[in-house]
Amino acid sequence: MSEHLPRPRPSGSTRLDGYVDRYAARTRGMTASEIRALFSVASRPEVVSLAGGMPNISGLPLDVVGDAVEELVRARGTVAMQYGSGQGDPRLREQICDVMRLEGIEAHPDDVVVTVGSQQAVDLVTRIFCDPGDVVICEAPSYVGALGVFKAYECDVVHVEMDEHGLVPQALRDAIAHVQAAGRRIKFVYTIPNYHNPAGVSLSPHRRPEILEICREADVLVLEDNPYGLLGFDEEPYRALRADEADGVIYLGSFSKTFAPGFRVGWALAPHAVREKLVLAQESATLCPPSFSQLAVSAYLERHDWRGQVKQFREMYRERRDAMVEALDDMMPAAARWNVPTGGFYVWLTLPPGLDAKAMLPRAVTSRVAFVPGTAFFADGFGSQSMRLSYCYPTPERIREGVRRLVGVIEEELELRETFGTAVPLAPEAGRGYDGPHTDLT
Ligand code: PMP
Repeated sequence: MSEHLPRPRPSGSTRLDGYVDRYAARTRGMTASEIRALFSVASRPEVVSLAGGMPNISGLPLDVVGDAVEELVRARGTVAMQYGSGQGDPRLREQICDVMRLEGIEAHPDDVVVTVGSQQAVDLVTRIFCDPGDVVICEAPSYVGALGVFKAYECDVVHVEMDEHGLVPQALRDAIAHVQAAGRRIKFVYTIPNYHNPAGVSLSPHRRPEILEICREADVLVLEDNPYGLLGFDEEPYRALRADEADGVIYLGSFSKTFAPGFRVGWALAPHAVREKLVLAQESATLCPPSFSQLAVSAYLERHDWRGQVKQFREMYRERRDAMVEALDDMMPAAARWNVPTGGFYVWLTLPPGLDAKAMLPRAVTSRVAFVPGTAFFADGFGSQSMRLSYCYPTPERIREGVRRLVGVIEEELELRETFGTAVPLAPEAGRGYDGPHTDLT
């Protein structure tokens, strides 16, 4: 009898999905975002997208890259197109150590594992450390792609408050104590200390030793995710957490923002023992990171003034940050709040009380502007009053136009509220119903 009863369908699957009964339990965490449909509209040219976090690589010297790739095929083609080491190309790993030196890290190439973007590094680290039900501590809000990984491995995410100086030490201390008092295992603290995605803030230098001390005392690893570290506008790179703690920190880096994301080259720098496990995990996932991409990145670093290129990127992003912040200053209603990032791609904006960003999104898209609602960046449904605005991709003029349209939508929402009372749901309950991992969003 029972086989005739309708079986419960995991969320995210559809009636058309004939495989629904066969999926592993962990796929329940893999759901498409309900806002994905809107994003196909948002990518139309008439929409100003302040949503995506795509690096703006229009300034890359394609002739230089083209020459390097051509030379690579001609001179080392049979190596570049062959399988390689599971840990990654030895020369590239040395160059990665040179890059990390800019943030105070002294590392040995043996401790570097090259990955398919730093996204894969987040996946591999979670794969080797986390069993279902293990706790991962994340900032509130946190990177949507990492939350997707943690969900896929069935981890429980505990969020910890940030302020304009980054992760709040006392809040971290309290969260660790609370989780440990409940007899639960914390596998690591996942943090983006520099030019945070999505919050736009950086962990202040005076907090860094304290955060390390808290994690050391509690015997909790730190997963330091740092793809934006070299993209500060007017400041020297921050000293990495890993620079002052070799054993308790796994550091993740990427060439996606300093060069180009299409090569998909990132890395993990890990304590020696962990590095061995990571390589085994890498081999089982991909056999080896792509040789061609690695050698192309390596040739680019070798031949080109890549530091000069990063400087150009920083100037280009600073101009866009200025355009966005000026437009917000000029036009946003007084009750809205936002931060002024000193690097990276993102502004985190909190709407006037009572407004709900996700509820507003369809109307925003109709008004030809898109953003990512704050709920996408929380594992627990919070963030409904906030949104992430990216300034990395559109031109300064388009950014200004996007903000003008967004302000129009916010003003309409405020009027509706005035007229109909609580026309939109109130935070934070309104945000319940996590958007889920969203591969369209970086
Ligand atoms: N971490 C953070 C904080 C990111 O913002 C991103 C991409 N935007 C990544 C990791 C992954 O980047 P990639 O895989 O391209 O290196």
